[in-house]
Amino acid sequence: MSRFAGHTFVISGGARGMGAAQARKIVAQGGSVLIADILQEKGRALADELGPAARFQPLDVTDEAQWAQAVSQARQLGPLRGLVNNAGVFLPASLPDTDLTLFERHMQVNQLGTFLGMKVVSEALKVQGGGSIVNISSTAGLRGVPQAIAYTGTKWAVRGMTKSAARELGPFDIRVNSVHPGLIDTEMLHVRDRAENLAQAQAQPIKRLGTAEEVADLVLFLLSDESRFMTGAELTIDGGRSL
Ligand code: NAD
Repeated sequence: MSRFAGHTFVISGGARGMGAAQARKIVAQGGSVLIADILQEKGRALADELGPAARFQPLDVTDEAQWAQAVSQARQLGPLRGLVNNAGVFLPASLPDTDLTLFERHMQVNQLGTFLGMKVVSEALKVQGGGSIVNISSTAGLRGVPQAIAYTGTKWAVRGMTKSAARELGPFDIRVNSVHPGLIDTEMLHVRDRAENLAQAQAQPIKRLGTAEEVADLVLFLLSDESRFMTGAELTIDGGRSL
């Protein structure tokens, strides 16, 4: 399929989970991906599996200079058309148990990382004449989640920054949208027992965990021209969890 032929995308946190599912689908649909992650072994293995349309670049999203390197690597694959700010950390803790280190870790990766990605990649997209940025927030960016104050704060920030960037970048034909997954079956949920995750899913209208592939289908829609009149939108994919 050639839906993304000639299009290159950067995926932060692309070595595993949702980011890896997005990378696989983009390449299967004719595009190229720069898989950018701190997980070097996994990222390289995935790039090898996907062949010449994929490349791995070590990236700590909290480091602006590393973002610049990622962009120049991506450009070697082809014209840059978009970014998925997918990297994230989820280290749930109650309000009294959230110390400064834990709070700042979420701020650094989830909030600062998303800001830096938009800042650096949007300049490259301006040169290309436009593109699409997808920021992965969470249902925790739409409502209050107990025992996860730092994560929740940063995912609301991602939602807000998405709207601000959408207004600023629209005149450059750069669209910016946020995706809000609910419980998705990836390693991120391993901080809790599987039984607890499944029990939480039972409270949803659709009583199961979502898959990384289901989220990837939505992300690819937002990266593609099919969503060309959408910007600043917040799309929930959660089996009805946040209703
Ligand atoms: P995951 O833990 O499998 O993937 C997260 C990826 O981010 C990993 O590859 C990790 O190495 C990478 N990462 C972490 N810190 C980084 C850094 N400093 N620089 C670069 N990469 C870094 O989990 P996932 O479920 O695939 O998460 C993807 C996104 O979806 C995250 O933003 C997460 O917050 C969000 N999300 C997940 C769920 C869920 O239920 N799994 C729900 C809502 C939102």
